[in-house]
Amino acid sequence: MNKKIIIAIDGYSSSGKSTIAKATAKHLGFKYIDSGAMYRVVTLFAIRNKLIDKTNSKINEEELKKQIDSVHINFKINQLKDRQEIYLNNENVEDEIREMEVSNLVSFISKLKFVREKMVRIQQELGKEKGIVMDGRDIGTVVFPNAELKIFMNAKAEVRAERRYKELKEKGVVVSYEEILENVKSRDHHDETRDESPLRKAHDAIELDNSNMSETEQLNWILGLIEKLK
Ligand code: C5P
Repeated sequence: MNKKIIIAIDGYSSSGKSTIAKATAKHLGFKYIDSGAMYRVVTLFAIRNKLIDKTNSKINEEELKKQIDSVHINFKINQLKDRQEIYLNNENVEDEIREMEVSNLVSFISKLKFVREKMVRIQQELGKEKGIVMDGRDIGTVVFPNAELKIFMNAKAEVRAERRYKELKEKGVVVSYEEILENVKSRDHHDETRDESPLRKAHDAIELDNSNMSETEQLNWILGLIEKLK
């Protein structure tokens, strides 16, 4: 039985956080939470309810604030696909939130204080009993500042865009590499420069540049760190 700890994995867009986080959680028998998916769900909600102007990314903040309590987020395991999927008010939106429309607008939603406060509350609740791996941008700095293990992931923007491009292409999403590179760079910029919980490496986080590492190498690296905690 593994000792129940909290593992916080933060880093840049498409740096492979979720791949390593999932593999680590599976290996340890821990819960895995993709916090980025939660911001994507709120973005989808805003798009569907016409609370965001797609032409200029302007958000009807007042209205979103009024409606935010009707956003109910859940995670469920899909046994057939062997993955966790996210639900917005009991509707499975796992695939829809990965589309470019949401990717292009999510940074405008995730910078809103009231949205962050709600997401952080849910995330802390999910980690109450520990035994969790959570990935995102502010997990080690804001959500779980006392996490036993904090990782900060990075890789060159071109490497990250290439990975994302392949992933989306495999899913049949029609998108160009240039569009993805642009999206990755612009999300990094927004995430790093926003006022509320900007993307930062926690002072006690361990950095990982996985540009030239396979998934197995990354998993072994993280398992080695966990071993040292014991
Ligand atoms: O992880 P992913 O790239 O899916 O996250 C989508 C967006 O959600 C990020 O670009 C960022 O703006 C926001 N996010 C955040 N804080 C987190 C996780 C994600 O602001 N903890």
